[in-house]
Amino acid sequence: MAGLAAVAAVFIVLGHDGRRVAQLLLLLLPLLAWLAWPLRSTAAMRLRRVALWTWVMLFALDGAARAFLLDSYQAAPDGALVLGAVANSNGREGGEYLWLHWRTVVLWLAALAGAGTLAWRLSGRGRRGPAQTPRWLVIALVIALLIASVAYASKPWRRLHPLAFWSNWAQSVQTLAADMADQQRERDEVLARAKQAAPVITRSGPSTVVLVITDSINRDNMGLYGYRRATTPRLQVQQRQAGENMLVLRNAWSVDASTLPALRNMFAFGRPEEAQPQHLLALARAAGYKVWWMSNHDDVAIEQQHARLADVVEFVNRTPGRASASLDGELLDCIQEALEDPAERKLVVVHLLGAHPHYRLRYPGGQNPFDDEVDAVESQMVKDGRAAWVRSFRQDYDAALLYHDFVVSETLQLTRSIGRGQGGHRAWMYLSDHGQEVGHGGDRAGHSPHTESGYRIPALVWRNEPLHQAAAQRPFRADWAGWTLAELLHLRWNGQEPGRNVLAPDYRWQPPVLPVKVKSFVD
Ligand SMILES: [Zn+2]
Repeated sequence: MAGLAAVAAVFIVLGHDGRRVAQLLLLLLPLLAWLAWPLRSTAAMRLRRVALWTWVMLFALDGAARAFLLDSYQAAPDGALVLGAVANSNGREGGEYLWLHWRTVVLWLAALAGAGTLAWRLSGRGRRGPAQTPRWLVIALVIALLIASVAYASKPWRRLHPLAFWSNWAQSVQTLAADMADQQRERDEVLARAKQAAPVITRSGPSTVVLVITDSINRDNMGLYGYRRATTPRLQVQQRQAGENMLVLRNAWSVDASTLPALRNMFAFGRPEEAQPQHLLALARAAGYKVWWMSNHDDVAIEQQHARLADVVEFVNRTPGRASASLDGELLDCIQEALEDPAERKLVVVHLLGAHPHYRLRYPGGQNPFDDEVDAVESQMVKDGRAAWVRSFRQDYDAALLYHDFVVSETLQLTRSIGRGQGGHRAWMYLSDHGQEVGHGGDRAGHSPHTESGYRIPALVWRNEPLHQAAAQRPFRADWAGWTLAELLHLRWNGQEPGRNVLAPDYRWQPPVLPVKVKSFVD
């Protein structure tokens, strides 16, 4: 009995903390007490063995799942992060996340298999009858069961039982998924609100604005920002050609470490919590822009909250999940088509997968120039004691950036060249939803809410007239990007606020509150 309790306790301790450990141990107790009861028939012994094993493994699985989430995402299973991610993804995507952490997963599975074998042996060792149960044992059992019944009598305790907890959890996921799919009404409201604000375009003549939002790009890995691997040769050529017309915002930060909140913030001008938030796309449409949303993501929530506000919506990635190998370059034809559309005012939003994990799926097979020789980056990582698997992920990540450089510079090239003869205003903005940790601060790879690398993003602006180059050194936050885009779109509406557009002379920086301490927002 003590042995079985110990097997379950190991996992309980790993997955829970503080008072919860004791609560779960009490919830575990009643069935374990059965072992002390002498059984006569072999069938009853067998039944007890199976029941006990299942019982112990339930607690072990629960502990292992929680410990895994805690270790990999610093998250609880019923937290918004995990619930949202599960409600918003599908089996394939879930599998992808597990793949990213496969070492950890294998370790946990091995531990569970070991525990399962041990628990099976131990649960066969219950008392056999006929035998007299000593008085002290009867008393001990009664006391144990009394204490355990307290645990079961209390609702908050009972809810922690793995069976209760995980069935509630499944229900929460379902409810959330239903909410996400029912947002048409909300979008109608957003559009009506935008009309009420009476937005106008303050500049006459044709206007084309392209917004490229990418995923998981850390600016520290871009040659354009001084990285020692040549990951952005094409953008650097563009920069030389564009001269004063292009702005590389050196100190760009996201304020969210994952896609959903980042996009929500970006399109709501940094105030999604406001009672009546405006949405950039709705305002642009209300002012007379024809809006496109083209995406290489397959994401229900983004589609519902943002994409469906556009006039034209194109999801080229028909394989669900970010595990799909659909390359961002697939979008280039769509972008060209949109730019050639006869509408006078166009806003084209392009949503790329960028370097979202898996990095190896974000560039064409075999095109990794960074994995064959030891360069300065590799040597530095070795010096910093980074593990081989992180260094290998870094090579893949940088190869993804190199392909990304091709796609992004093509979007800029298309914006610069199509419609050049017709005059009118043209602008292009590029930024990442959040950063990425790939061995920058430790042996970790992935989204990183608790390190700076999770927030260090690139942000570039181009337009067909000179930009105030001093703005390049200003710190910039992605949740304010809407204010800058409003200028590129020449939008004016009731309730507009100065000071948050990084291109404006009256720009007033306020550092964002991040879950991580940032030494300085200006390098
Ligand atoms: Zn993202």
